Amino acid sequence: MKLTVVGCSGSFPSAESACSSYLVEADGFRLLLDMGNGALGELQRHCGLYDLDAIFLSHLHADHCIDMCAYFVARYYRHDGGRCDPIPVYGPEGTEQRLTTAYADTPSASSMSEVFDFHTVKPSSFEIGPFSVHTEKVSHPVEAYGIRVEHGGRSLTYSGDTGVCDTLDELARDTDLFLCEAAFTHGKENIPDLHLNGREAGETATRAGARRLVLTHIPPWTDPQTNLDHAREAFTGPVELASPRATYDI
Ligand SMILES: [Zn+2]
Ligand SMILES: [Zn+2]
Repeated sequence: MKLTVVGCSGSFPSAESACSSYLVEADGFRLLLDMGNGALGELQRHCGLYDLDAIFLSHLHADHCIDMCAYFVARYYRHDGGRCDPIPVYGPEGTEQRLTTAYADTPSASSMSEVFDFHTVKPSSFEIGPFSVHTEKVSHPVEAYGIRVEHGGRSLTYSGDTGVCDTLDELARDTDLFLCEAAFTHGKENIPDLHLNGREAGETATRAGARRLVLTHIPPWTDPQTNLDHAREAFTGPVELASPRATYDI
């Protein structure tokens, strides 16, 4: 399984990075986790516009899904041979309606479904191409999911956006790579059920027995080194900051 960081900026894009988007590949299948602001442009560094096989949206905050509107244009008005076939899109209840509203003037209310095959995510286990995935609700002001992706006996767990919660601990149990948000700074921002800070990301990784921790979703106004230091104080395994275009063989 190969993970590529397409975008990792939290809440809004930075000069260096698009918002949340991660490409997971195995057996020639490409699964994209989230498509936040600016992700569609960055994605084209890594694969062709039409090379994705499935998309998972952790939740419907703009920094995780808004470039789906741009991707709708690319698929619906395709210039080289007609409309694209629908690609599976896994997202929370109401994903189609939210994206249609965000786009504002799709040719009809059902236009999105002509190029996106929407599936409603619930806490469950299912298959996406060659991947076995498990989703769990995490702790955020809107319906939000963390996802564990398994292939060939290896696992990747992506937190999405969340505060501290038991479901995330379970989702990341013994995972090979834990891609975990750390949007807040310990001692500075303390709002429960919204985001993790670096220390909480490290503590979650420790409780879960994760083998490797990659911190992501750090907003441009937050010092990443501070969050990295705090995570290292709480987790003795390898920890690093996600960066655009970084790749991991899992
Ligand atoms: Zn976010
Ligand atoms: Zn969010």
